[in-house]
Amino acid sequence: MLKINNLHASVEDKSILKGINLEIKAGEVHAIMGPNGSGKSTLASVIAGKEEYEVTDGNILLENEDLEELAAEERAHKGVFLSFQYPVEIPGVSVTNFMKTAINANRKAKGLEDMPANEMLKLIREKSEMLEIDRKFLSRSLNEGFSGGEKKRNEIFQMAMLEPKLAILDETDSGLDIDALRIVANGVNKLKSKDNAVLVITHYQRLLDYIVPDFVHVLYNGKIVKSGGKELAHELEEKGYDWIKEEVNA
Ligand code: ADP
Ligand code: MG
Ligand code: MG
Repeated sequence: MLKINNLHASVEDKSILKGINLEIKAGEVHAIMGPNGSGKSTLASVIAGKEEYEVTDGNILLENEDLEELAAEERAHKGVFLSFQYPVEIPGVSVTNFMKTAINANRKAKGLEDMPANEMLKLIREKSEMLEIDRKFLSRSLNEGFSGGEKKRNEIFQMAMLEPKLAILDETDSGLDIDALRIVANGVNKLKSKDNAVLVITHYQRLLDYIVPDFVHVLYNGKIVKSGGKELAHELEEKGYDWIKEEVNA
């Protein structure tokens, strides 16, 4: 699904990612953990194709296709989904209408007609029922006055509707409460399949009690310095990151 080779990236001429190698196969859930400032959000942004980040070496392949020349929007159309840490409020545009627009933009990029209204309704009903999202929520203005949990519910709903191949959830700085954690985790657990892959980026081990990763990687100073199974997340919770820093700097 995703293969990252020797990825180096910088922002404003400052080198942030210093040789990342990572392979994520379909059906897998990977977690990236690491201390603040280690480059986790940068990695997410670079995969998604945000413009401020410059790839200076290495490459990113999605299903064997090099993403380098593709803009963020084109990557999204190819099935890369990045959750928004700071979602925009759009007064007057409902959750449902925003979603319809996004879906049809996606189809247009693939040369398809708008989704017929009845099909759209069916899809919305199916996904919202799966995620236990009620009708009232669907008619609210996008992110306007949303609680932390509601923002997460909306993100997960977007993910469910768009059915990405690779979902990247960057939860580092968003201060999730327990409700929001459960919403994210239940959603991810329901949406993961043998045909998609999930990359969860988090500073906290807590989220990984609910979303059980197949692999855990520790990012430190722009490099993956340690990889393991889910037990690595528990070890980090117990011992913090200092021992990793010591190992790397030894
Ligand atoms: P993490 O998500 O692991 O906390 P980040 O990827 O957010 O780390 O940041 C890594 C480093 O890159 C930090 O030193 C941060 O200040 C810097 N950085 C990230 N994004 C930008 C940006 N858009 N402009 C300037 N510096 C940035
Ligand atoms: Mg940070
Ligand atoms: Mg971050």
